[in-house]
Amino acid sequence: MSARGRADLHVHTTASDGALSPAEVVDTGAAIGLAAVGISDHDTVAGIPAALARSAEKGCEVVPGVELNTDFRGKEIHILGYFIAWDDTRLARTLARLRKGRLARVERMLAKLETLGMTLSLDRVVSLCDEGSVGRPHVAKAMLEAGYVGSVKEAFQRFLTRGMPAFVERMRFSPAEAVKTVLLAGGVPVLAHPGVGASPALILELVKVGLGGLEVFHPEHDLRRTQLYLGMTRELGLTATGGSDSHGKGQPYGADIGALTVDYAVVGELRRRAERRTMTDSADKAR
Ligand code: AMP
Ligand code: ZN
Ligand code: FE
Ligand code: FE
Repeated sequence: MSARGRADLHVHTTASDGALSPAEVVDTGAAIGLAAVGISDHDTVAGIPAALARSAEKGCEVVPGVELNTDFRGKEIHILGYFIAWDDTRLARTLARLRKGRLARVERMLAKLETLGMTLSLDRVVSLCDEGSVGRPHVAKAMLEAGYVGSVKEAFQRFLTRGMPAFVERMRFSPAEAVKTVLLAGGVPVLAHPGVGASPALILELVKVGLGGLEVFHPEHDLRRTQLYLGMTRELGLTATGGSDSHGKGQPYGADIGALTVDYAVVGELRRRAERRTMTDSADKAR
């Protein structure tokens, strides 16, 4: 399929665990003819200003976003937030708290790895991330660099995933709190890759607190799941979004930029949802 008129709404940059800088992501989007890219870094909006600046030059629109990582009953539940007011101070405070939790989690993972005979410096791990949104991918890279594992995938499989010896729980932050965080920042909350661990019951709970969409098109979804979630968006009146979850070419997680896209009309739908919310909020405040 041609990239014309298409949008990849899930891309990571060096602000979290992506391999490309925000400007390089926009350059890549423009080079393959995408109409828009959604910048959705884990627990940070630090990549957005540079992406927006490059977007003005390159003509590939940037949808400002974020991906908030939470877990719920042992499953990874990630909430995307689109058209957030990325310069909002309350949002900045929440994201800073989440990143502090990430740093503390990394420290605890390093302590566990130490007891397993693997010594890694916190400084080195932190230096592998441009903007301080460190996580397991950076620990995995440092393990690879030190020769403790043969690949990032191996680091995850043998040590860093739940149930493995260096796994540490994430800071407590629920999916509903993540939805609220996005709403307070004027954005549209969308459940990322529901096939990775969200139950139908959780989806219904999150709709009650303001979820606006499901990420139907994602590399982790097979055809059956894609159709299941597409059906749910229709039944529940949600927006069906999608994207590559790209972390850079050849990275072990996600696909290449533009590998999964949605029609550009979805960008308009998200923008309208965000604007409708902002209007309702002002009406509420005026009352
Ligand atoms: P964290 O937020 O620190 O728990 O890290 C989670 C991130 O690690 C995900 O968003 C993916 O980018 C990446 N990831 C998860 N599972 C794997 C895996 N099996 N191999 C490589 N990367 C992974
Ligand atoms: Zn990631
Ligand atoms: Fe995710
Ligand atoms: Fe992601």
